[in-house]
Amino acid sequence: MSKKVVVLAETRENTLRNVSFEAIGAAKQISDGGEVVVALFGTDVSSLANELFEYGADRVVIVEHPHLKFYTADGYNQALLAVVEQESPDAIVIGHTALGKDLSPKVASRLQTGLISDVTAIEGGGDGVQFVRPIYSGKAFERVESESTPLFVTVRPNNIAPLEQQAGKSGSAESLSVDITNLRTIVENVIRKATDGVDLSEAKVVVSGGRGVKSAEGFAPLKELADLLGGAVGASRGACDADYCDYSLQIGQTGKVLTPDLYIAAGISGAIQHLAGMSNSKVIVAINKDPEANIFKVADYGIVGDLFEVVPLLIEEVKAL
Ligand code: FAD
Repeated sequence: MSKKVVVLAETRENTLRNVSFEAIGAAKQISDGGEVVVALFGTDVSSLANELFEYGADRVVIVEHPHLKFYTADGYNQALLAVVEQESPDAIVIGHTALGKDLSPKVASRLQTGLISDVTAIEGGGDGVQFVRPIYSGKAFERVESESTPLFVTVRPNNIAPLEQQAGKSGSAESLSVDITNLRTIVENVIRKATDGVDLSEAKVVVSGGRGVKSAEGFAPLKELADLLGGAVGASRGACDADYCDYSLQIGQTGKVLTPDLYIAAGISGAIQHLAGMSNSKVIVAINKDPEANIFKVADYGIVGDLFEVVPLLIEEVKAL
């Protein structure tokens, strides 16, 4: 039977994050021909609805409120519950991002429903839909289905393909007025660290350095390679603890969990906590001077050598392409 699915669009500085389109792709599959309604929160966000239609939204429900300009769990919880109350969906889909990880348990508990988090693949659709998700820090995958209503899932970024963009496709956008009250926190402003280049959590290529990089300056060739490949720089906790780079770059169990198309690990030993954040990358290249390093167990391509010799060679090769 076809289903009605509500998707929460995620924005940053009034642009839609890719995971919003991936969540719509997931919702389309779950809906099995039913309706996909996208909830869009913020201030002055209505112009973003067109892009959501182009990626497959059937309807967009816009909640604009000064307290939704920046994410707070209380504010988004109230807005999403209002959309769910209006739409009575069979399913809800949110990205498994920092926002989604924070918000989804709260909303699920208010709705007294189950939550299938960190979904990396969806099989089937409609009533028979099943979800694949990693367990034991990515060492195994389980296939689950939900018996609770509404079905509630979060989807890991960069795993579920968005629908192909159909330029000019439109649909109905409507406003919903929600009184956002009793907030325990009000975010007045967000000052982001200046970062140049690609957002690490959405990068298709990640070049990561570990303690083997030896210094903050040692990251320069990794940055050059990442830039040439249109990617972002990441790091192990070893490198962050040694103050070679900022903790916002940390990948792993207590850092970011990524699934880029290409992950290059340079001077990283491959501790289990690091693997938890990157072992599901589509192609893994490891550079390490120790042939016994654990990282080679998950690598598709292993280069045994000194990263300060290997990375410049890779840079030369990429430049020659
Ligand atoms: P090391 O283990 O010291 O490895 C350095 C590697 O560089 C070695 O393999 C060495 O052979 C190689 N090397 C040295 N010089 C060169 C060179 N010139 N060329 C090539 N290779 C070279 N870690 C994470 O990364 N992410 C997490 O989220 C995380 N969470 C954790 C949570 C908990 C609760 C705990 C206890 C630990 C966590 N850790 C995490 C830490 C983790 O256990 C490791 O200590 C850490 O990942 C090691 O970082 P590393 O691989 O950079 O350093």
